[in-house]
Amino acid sequence: MAKRTANSKIEDEPADLKKSKNESLVEKIQESRIKCAKSVQDFKFNKKRVRLLNEVEEFLEGSQGVLYWMVRDQRVQDNWAMLFAQRLALKEKTSLHVCFCVVVPFLEATKRHYDFLLNGLKEVEKECCNLDIQFHLLKGDPSSEVSSLVKELNIGAVVTDFSPLRLPRKWLTDLTENLPKNVGLCQVDTHNIVPCWITSEKQEYGARTIRNKIHSQMCNFLTEFPPVIKHPHEAKTEAKPTDWNTIIGKSDTDEAVKPVDWAKPGTAAGYATLESFCNERLKHFATERNDPTKNSLSNLSPWLRFGHISPQRCILVVKKFQKSHKNSVDAFVEEAVIRSELADNYCYYQKDYDNINGAYEWARNSLKQHAKDKREYIYSRKEFEEGKTHDQLWNAAQIQLVKEGKMHGFLRMYWAKKILEWSTTPSEALEIAIFLNDRYSLDGMDSNGYVGCMWSVCAIHDRAWGERNVIGKIRIMTYQGCKRKFDVDSYITKYCSKNSKKI
Ligand SMILES: Cc1cc2nc3c(=O)[nH]c(=O)nc-3n(C[C@H](O)[C@H](O)[C@H](O)COP(=O)(O)OP(=O)(O)OC[C@H]3O[C@@H](n4cnc5c(N)ncnc54)[C@H](O)[C@@H]3O)c2cc1C
Repeated sequence: MAKRTANSKIEDEPADLKKSKNESLVEKIQESRIKCAKSVQDFKFNKKRVRLLNEVEEFLEGSQGVLYWMVRDQRVQDNWAMLFAQRLALKEKTSLHVCFCVVVPFLEATKRHYDFLLNGLKEVEKECCNLDIQFHLLKGDPSSEVSSLVKELNIGAVVTDFSPLRLPRKWLTDLTENLPKNVGLCQVDTHNIVPCWITSEKQEYGARTIRNKIHSQMCNFLTEFPPVIKHPHEAKTEAKPTDWNTIIGKSDTDEAVKPVDWAKPGTAAGYATLESFCNERLKHFATERNDPTKNSLSNLSPWLRFGHISPQRCILVVKKFQKSHKNSVDAFVEEAVIRSELADNYCYYQKDYDNINGAYEWARNSLKQHAKDKREYIYSRKEFEEGKTHDQLWNAAQIQLVKEGKMHGFLRMYWAKKILEWSTTPSEALEIAIFLNDRYSLDGMDSNGYVGCMWSVCAIHDRAWGERNVIGKIRIMTYQGCKRKFDVDSYITKYCSKNSKKI
């Protein structure tokens, strides 16, 4: 974290990060976890993070363990669901188990996603093993697999994490019905800093209406994590080590979309990215984050998407730079907390979070009124996918997405808005944008992505703008506008062949 000047003075460095120059971020984080656990005998855990999902309030007598069914938050440390499960197991003097159920196929997931998922889970298994926590990898329908495991292990209570999305919610509802009688089931929101159900009881109109609700609750939830400790209670049935090579067969998944080199899966790689962000990119975040030719973003979204690192940990670390890089820290909080928690709010309260019916009435009507307008260009999904439009900036962005598994955040907006302009209907545009985003982006199939596409195509969390052909009152983004903001040619040169034509 230290930045040394020529005379070896330390610049721009928070006081509590100054003491041990050679300590890695991971060591510093571990130290703060231990400090936090020592300072409170029974660690500080805000119970509002937890909600009971069935009527069972007592731990099932005679049972033999607590199970954490890990879904969205695929990490051991910095995980309130894991901490809550361990606390319950310690209280009941019983063993602690963790399971994850791999679903194949899953939406648009390809080899790129499964590789990231499974390698992250390998790390989870290893860490669990070191802490005497039993890790079970399941495959199939989550509700039946998890309920079978509960019966097999004679589990007394199940803890799970929170996702606002349709499929995980369906699995959870099914599990509630399948779970043996008297086995408690509860859920912990360990993705959002302020639990989604505490921030608001309704779909918020936009950042403007949710910002204060989050900020006013943040002091109650933005606390240090204690460590998950070596579990003292032995399991009657030990988990078998996972045979990782047999989980996904070649025919199970689309091998055409390959893993990417720059993003290594797992918590350790996530922390390394967080560390390099704080050291190298954070200071430019406020001023350069909308310039796709600059490397100023955190690049944390793949690890946040798979829960390999916790947004709360990122905020705790980044906030230590408040004095030296105030504007950048504020901008990062706005993205990683406000925008991201707004996305969860939307998906949680809006069942049509990925189709036009989820748009505001004015936006739906406006798009309808322009449904028959003549489009200057119309492309098929295949043409979009292959980056074969007339616009080299758009093609370059698509190539970045396909090759790198992540498109720059500013161009994501331009990219999706152009799909609206160049598709037969707004619904088709939305389908194409979501399909391509989910198939190629490592951070795809998440609430931020659905909301990003909905914002671009049908103005979710935005307002009405001057009316135009085809896009109605939806905000426009143009090639000329991009030219004014950044060096479009240099971005195109980076991703398209040298001789490509520019518009
Ligand atoms: C069409 C479109 C599709 C998108 N698809 C995704 C997606 O699939 N997954 C995804 O995580 N984000 C998506 N976003 C939101 C945003 O573009 C990405 O979060 C960001 O580009 C990720 O890169 P980063 O981690 O380097 O971002 P940074 O700018 O460094 O931000 C840090 C974190 O803040 C959060 N964040 C940043 N911007 C937003 C935003 N606008 N909305 C919600 N959260 C935000 C993310 O968790 C991000 O990782 C999409 C946006 C658009 C317009």
